[in-house]
Amino acid sequence: YQHELALLKGTKAVTKNGTVIEINANIGHPEDVSMVLENDADGIGLFRSEFLYMESSNFPSEEDQFQAYKKVLEKMGGKRVIIRTLDLGADKQVPYLDIPHEENPAMGYRAIRICLDRQELFITQLRALIRASAFGKLAIMFPMIISVEEVKKIKEIVEKVKKDLTEENIAFAPDFELGIMIETPASVILSDLLAKEVDFFSIGTNDLTQYTLAVDRMNHTISKMFDSRHPAVLRMIEKTAESAKNAGIWVGICGESAADTAMTEFYVKIGISELSVTPSMVLELRKAVQQIEL
Ligand code: PEP
Ligand code: MG
Repeated sequence: YQHELALLKGTKAVTKNGTVIEINANIGHPEDVSMVLENDADGIGLFRSEFLYMESSNFPSEEDQFQAYKKVLEKMGGKRVIIRTLDLGADKQVPYLDIPHEENPAMGYRAIRICLDRQELFITQLRALIRASAFGKLAIMFPMIISVEEVKKIKEIVEKVKKDLTEENIAFAPDFELGIMIETPASVILSDLLAKEVDFFSIGTNDLTQYTLAVDRMNHTISKMFDSRHPAVLRMIEKTAESAKNAGIWVGICGESAADTAMTEFYVKIGISELSVTPSMVLELRKAVQQIEL
């Protein structure tokens, strides 16, 4: 069977009636790029940047981050790489961040909330990311969005960083895409407004399932209730896709359920144009798309 899948390398994920789907890979470390290339993914749909923060004893410098992002972009040779800004907090803690005890960390001080609160950390990461844009096809994505105001603030900061880099004569490719993760019910409900602010949506079904169903993704006792095919979750995905379509932006899925081949036809039908999965699932998913007759 592995041999059969290997034959799909070099082909594209196109349905029988000609709809092209981008099949990307999720990575958590620059070393994972070899797996991405080995499995012939179209690009990287989610590069979790937390590794930089988890592997060091203090906040990583702009230069350390820049080198890591640059390496991934160069190795991907012009294929799109979507890098997600810091998503610490909740299940991903580092000692030096020193977050006070929280009763509900999943609903606490995390991700974009930390970045907008401690903007010096955010600006350091954005400078590293934007500098790396000169070395490949970069897209930047922001986690845990719940409001239009957050996105407007983010865009303001990004513009400021671009202006600073220009004034410092530091090279970057200004046309990189900006997107947000849709992983809270608030972002789904506001998706028509949010779609006017960004270039793309990427649906994080891990958190979206958790917050929609009020089922903790870390709680083994209720893991049977953690169901990404729950009709409420599917309606959330459908609404997001509709908002994206109306605004003319693209929408993908980068949570675990992107790899659920029983759902692929549904996703494609409602207008999802990108799926990002663990590298070892890329060819399997490409096969599933090639079998779809809409
Ligand atoms: C998600 O929430 O679906 C997601 C892709 O992000 P993470 O699993 O890193 O929270
Ligand atoms: Mg998430």
